[in-house]
Amino acid sequence: MKRTVEAPPNPRPLPLRLPRLCVAIVGSDPADMIANAINVVREESFMEFRLDYLKQPLAALNALRDFLHTYPHLVAIATCRRAANGGKFRGPVADQMEVLRKAQAAGCQIVDVELESALTLKPAEIANLCSRGSLLLSFHDFKATKDLEAIFQKMQQIRADYYKVVTTATCLYDNVRMMKFLEDKSRDYSVIGVCMGEQGVISRVLGLRAGSAFSFAAATAGGETAPGQITARHLRDVYRVDQLDPATRIYGVAGDPVGQSLSPQMMNAALRRENVNAVYLPLHALSVEDLVECVRAVPIQGVSVTMPHKESIVKFLDGTDLWTQKTGACNTLVRGKDGRLFGYNTDVAGVLRPLEQRFPLMGAKVLVIGAGGAARAAVYGLKERGSEVFIINRTPAKGMKLAKDAKVNYLGRADLKKYQFDVIINATPVGMDGVQTPLGEKEIKATFVFDMVYRLLETPFTRAARAAGAQVIPGYEMFVQQGVQQFQIWTAKPAPANEMQNVVLAAINLNKPAESAAPDNPQPEKPVAEKPPVEKPQAEKPKAEKPQAEKPKAVAAKAAAAKAAKPKAVKPKAGKSKAENPKTEKSKGAKPRADKSPAAKSKAKKNK
Ligand code: NAP
Repeated sequence: MKRTVEAPPNPRPLPLRLPRLCVAIVGSDPADMIANAINVVREESFMEFRLDYLKQPLAALNALRDFLHTYPHLVAIATCRRAANGGKFRGPVADQMEVLRKAQAAGCQIVDVELESALTLKPAEIANLCSRGSLLLSFHDFKATKDLEAIFQKMQQIRADYYKVVTTATCLYDNVRMMKFLEDKSRDYSVIGVCMGEQGVISRVLGLRAGSAFSFAAATAGGETAPGQITARHLRDVYRVDQLDPATRIYGVAGDPVGQSLSPQMMNAALRRENVNAVYLPLHALSVEDLVECVRAVPIQGVSVTMPHKESIVKFLDGTDLWTQKTGACNTLVRGKDGRLFGYNTDVAGVLRPLEQRFPLMGAKVLVIGAGGAARAAVYGLKERGSEVFIINRTPAKGMKLAKDAKVNYLGRADLKKYQFDVIINATPVGMDGVQTPLGEKEIKATFVFDMVYRLLETPFTRAARAAGAQVIPGYEMFVQQGVQQFQIWTAKPAPANEMQNVVLAAINLNKPAESAAPDNPQPEKPVAEKPPVEKPQAEKPKAEKPQAEKPKAVAAKAAAAKAAKPKAVKPKAGKSKAENPKTEKSKGAKPRADKSPAAKSKAKKNK
């Protein structure tokens, strides 16, 4: 006999405090939707059933009622959003309301009605919905984050139990707007606020801290119902959303792109391990001005700055360390209590540590491939440690300029065969594709090869190096070491380096098939070519004017030499925050920016 949907004998009550995360449940048909709910029911107690994803939403309600009766602890939202308002339901508002009323009868305690539909309803219809459960009034902007106050005023025409405002972040500062809105409105209303999109990811975590009644999450990877949505497991395990409170300090990695960065996994693991009440988030920053505004307003206590902002951030700093001054690049930002910004460069320590763990740097003959930010960290750090540094670069003029500035040697590629190096460092992205290598096997004459490319355990360059008899230093060691230094600068605690390395290695192994099948499926290596100079470059006289083929230097002999030398170290002082004690005060020519300066604002606006 066909069952009809009836109100359950005892209306399912809402708990006094809702769980922090509501997972969105979708499915291709009713059975698939319920199966997806069953898959997560052991971990999740708050679900949003997206009935609009089904061809016939009404056909799912018997199964939904049975499911909810089986799991009486569950809190369920029914959503049947119309296509005109960003959902998938193609029927008129009357049919949408029928689905929602019947979903209430099936046991869903909350129904989501979008503002556009609600405004067409008669007060009696709204009252009817409210009498059977809770009404969540929702607003969505799939393009931007506009005047949130005006949106809320409009929403208040309808009396609802929850007000949900979902917009799209087109810059990091949109998250700040959302958080201010939540802080303000959550005093008097149950509000939920989220910014969609990659730039809105931080709102999914920080919104909870700002007063959002709860946040939405995907039940599984691939089951996202909104751009930028994160899985509930990731929000709990990596960002520890269940432990967030107003005292939680905020850190992040800023760059463009930033989605693939392993820093959030590595740094959150370290923060958890050391019991630091802090969270580390991906900050997709299209402009450095937007980043600085966001850092000041949230506030964010520390940022790992990555491509392409390492150099452009320097002009916003109120103080820098020696390495930032020397390299002109900052990868670590610290916001002091007074809002002043200090910059450090831990890439230098990231390059030096893996090398000096293997051989003394004093007197070592080092070839650096590249002339960008990472190459500069290597060149200046090694020069400071007393190494003899050589540079080659695709664009000779850039390599020559760096060689001249750092007072080291520039080599043409053809001259490489005359040298034997202690280590060759790849400071270019060549090899990230798993195909190209900056040097061919025959060009590698070195005891060690250090590939800064860190998302592959084996690159074409490291394969060629092994074939040439060199020992390999993997790029993840640098990645971990620069993170270790950042952790120490921010927390004044020793970093759990082993834990950090394990997390990175696990992530690299996990991503291996998607990244490249390089180690298991070697491709013929493709050495990249040097760019022919566009115009005749100014002949810089390399220091080694008459290069001679050199014999490998004995590492043991150098150890003795290095003992005699005392290299300068970049060491954060434990127990004393560097933010309040920068090595160098305000760098020359650097202009501290006033919070939300008109220039910064107009640039940020342009970015939107
Ligand atoms: P960057 O400032 O953009 O510099 C890139 C350098 O690579 C330039 O010298 C550029 O030569 C050269 N290059 C780019 N594409 C090339 C190609 N197809 N063939 C030959 N040379 C090429 O970048 P960066 O910040 O220095 O970063 C370089 C690499 O180091 C990236 O892969 C980055 O992921 C890695 N890195 C790793 C770590 C770590 O922790 N392991 C830390 C920092 C950076 P031109 O001058 O001719 O443009």
